Amino acid sequence: MRSIAPKITLAFLFAIIITLLLYSLILNQAIDEQFNLYIQANQDNNNKNIVNALTHIYKEKGYWDKDAASEISTLLKYDGINLRLYDNDGFVIWNSIASHSDLAYMFTFQLEENITSSLHPIVHQNRIVAHVEISYAQHSPITELDTSFRDSINKSLVSIAIFATLFAIFLSIILSSSISAPLSKITNIATNLSKGDLKQRIQVKKGDDEIARLAKAINHLAETLEKEENYRKNITADIAHELRTPLMSLQGQIEAMADRIVDPTPDNLNSTVEEVIRLSSLIKSLELLSTAESATLEFNPELISLTDVTKNIVNVFQAQYQAKGVMLSFYAIKKCYILADKDKLSQIIINLLSNSLKYSQAKDRVTVKISYQGDDVTIRITDTGMGISEHDLPYIFDRFYRGDKSRNRNTGGSGIGLAIVKSLVDAHKWNISVSSSLGKGTSFTITIPRGNL
Ligand code: ADP
Repeated sequence: MRSIAPKITLAFLFAIIITLLLYSLILNQAIDEQFNLYIQANQDNNNKNIVNALTHIYKEKGYWDKDAASEISTLLKYDGINLRLYDNDGFVIWNSIASHSDLAYMFTFQLEENITSSLHPIVHQNRIVAHVEISYAQHSPITELDTSFRDSINKSLVSIAIFATLFAIFLSIILSSSISAPLSKITNIATNLSKGDLKQRIQVKKGDDEIARLAKAINHLAETLEKEENYRKNITADIAHELRTPLMSLQGQIEAMADRIVDPTPDNLNSTVEEVIRLSSLIKSLELLSTAESATLEFNPELISLTDVTKNIVNVFQAQYQAKGVMLSFYAIKKCYILADKDKLSQIIINLLSNSLKYSQAKDRVTVKISYQGDDVTIRITDTGMGISEHDLPYIFDRFYRGDKSRNRNTGGSGIGLAIVKSLVDAHKWNISVSSSLGKGTSFTITIPRGNL
């Protein structure tokens, strides 16, 4: 079976048929038991009345004669009963079949296999004067009533079964279509996704059942795939673009020297080597970026002291800062333990500190400060350097984006440092913000939420 719908219908029908079968079995059994009890109680009562009546007849006459016999026949008002009166020697005094006028009744009674009989003594003045055998035919009105009652119950059960079956088919069609229709839609869309059509999305119905969650998960998968695909296309274009310019200038320089338009003096060769160095540093940055962007995949968080890690990096940078005449200060709360990937945290701080140094001049100041802000911890790196223009500010975390000033000044940057920082911050599920004022300085703030402490 390719579809889930017939399976659901079959399961429904099976459940209904089994339920009805069990129900009718149990019901019939219960009816039987109740009727048997009722019949027994009824027979006991009849027997008692008959014995009392016979005792009374004997008491009036003192012996059994024809008159007594006619009186006895009035006792046969209880339909389906046969009476046989025996004297103490075991001779039949009276037999209701022999005296009954209805031949058909006699016939029935004689043919009846299932007869229940019981013998009762007739006691007068503490003496047994006769025995009466009371027999009941199976087809007594009560058992007939029982059978017809059971028949009507069973007929009702059959009607219920027909109705329930139709209802089950109707319900199962609605239910199965409500399950199979969205599932086949999801399957179609998943198949299209696998064929590369990443634009398709499933319209998710309200609610949070398994199907809605599956649809959301597939949509999420499609979004991720689409982002990855776009990323792949963009990064290829970006890298090609970034590599083309330096390679072309390198090619130009080498060709000029080969054509003797430019002499291969040490100076000219040095500038060629610088271009090669810049290219290899760009490639190194690209490697770092690719590691940073897959950071969520290789993420090893551990409990570390943010203060200690930052302090060590600040110490390493001190010499470079001093060489450029930039003052580097560090303020921190003691220890401050956080859950972080140590290497990735170090990379974030290194990139921010090297930018602050790169975009500052002698006499500028750079401050690194770790503090609590409410329940969160913040690490803020503030410089009094050149600042970032309002125009550049929204794009500085984009890959290969370089601010105008940075390009003009030929800082040697590749526009990848902050993209790496952003990826690593995202991998930690932290937050990074920047505020800057052109000519006055820049401040980067990383917020580490309480959950990471
Ligand atoms: P780059 O290699 O160009 O430094 P980044 O991704 O690190 O690339 O930075 C992107 C741009 O953001 C830089 O080109 C620069 O314009 C700006 N920028 C980053 N940090 C600072 C800073 N501390 N001060 C001024 N400008 C900055």
